[in-house]
Amino acid sequence: AAKRSRSGIEAYRADMSRRLERRIDMASRLDQALRHGELQLHYQPQVRLDDGGIVGMEALLRWHDTELGWIRPDEFIPLAEERGMIDAVGDFVVGQACAQIRAWRGAGLLLPGRLALNISAMQLDADTFSERLITAVTRAGLSPTEFDLELTESGIMVDPVRSLAIMKLLKAAGFSLSVDDFGMGYSSLSHLKGFPFDKIKLDGSFVQGMLTDRSDYAIVMATVTMARNLGLQLVAEGVETADQAVALKSIGCELAQGFLYGRACPPEVFAARWLQSAPA
Ligand code: C2E
Ligand code: CA
Ligand code: CA
Ligand code: CA
Repeated sequence: AAKRSRSGIEAYRADMSRRLERRIDMASRLDQALRHGELQLHYQPQVRLDDGGIVGMEALLRWHDTELGWIRPDEFIPLAEERGMIDAVGDFVVGQACAQIRAWRGAGLLLPGRLALNISAMQLDADTFSERLITAVTRAGLSPTEFDLELTESGIMVDPVRSLAIMKLLKAAGFSLSVDDFGMGYSSLSHLKGFPFDKIKLDGSFVQGMLTDRSDYAIVMATVTMARNLGLQLVAEGVETADQAVALKSIGCELAQGFLYGRACPPEVFAARWLQSAPA
């Protein structure tokens, strides 16, 4: 038994050091990736549950490294934050998103609703965040009213007083504000009252559990009712099956996002599948 646990520890150590190496490798590559265009945005539609029509879209960041392969944002966003690169990554996302809207429009395509961008806690916390964002958008000849900013509750609770001030400013500039991953982490309800949100994005874990777990179902129902009573839009995230869509519809949820409708895909694929030409 002693021998076995010894080799267990060794295997564990080897695994840890492989992971550590991957992270170190990744950190040095992320900087290059930014400069060499290895990061790109993919787009996922937000749809109406009743007819599947598109009402908006979310930009999701992708990184393809020649040696490490595809790296998930859940893995490299925290790394970018640790290494002081998150502002550069965020600026890249905003620049890329603006360029994409212009390109689609230049090609005569009609954009349905707003483009949602994810903003991490640390991005929101940077002193220059709102100013840089507004400048980038207006310099691109676009208006903040074309964007929706997705913030997490944990993100705004790092410094709630300051977050509130920034959010008011962003909202006054024309951005719409969404709570991302609603239901995870912090006790959510009181925040909705104090912050100027337009939309709630209910975390996919509740949707995925709603047909098998009574508390998940109860949480989805309560969120639908609450959003309606507070006058907030609600998007159910992570909808994967037709049964989930039917259940959501039956309790009065109107908007959804998830693999059932479409995965995040590159801009050309997204445009071919989801965007229509403006009438001449
Ligand atoms: P998120 O904002 O909650 O985004 C939703 C995630 O769920 C995305 O993963 C999306 O691809 C995935 N997803 C969508 N529909 C389904 C579904 O039906 N089932 C399942 N299982 N998953 C679904 P992704 O693209 O890997 O992004 C992960 C997280 O990384 C995002 O979570 C967001 O927090 C962060 N992120 C992505 N892009 C950016 C960015 O540009 N900036 C920042 N700061 N964070 C980003
Ligand atoms: Ca999001
Ligand atoms: Ca989410
Ligand atoms: Ca998430």
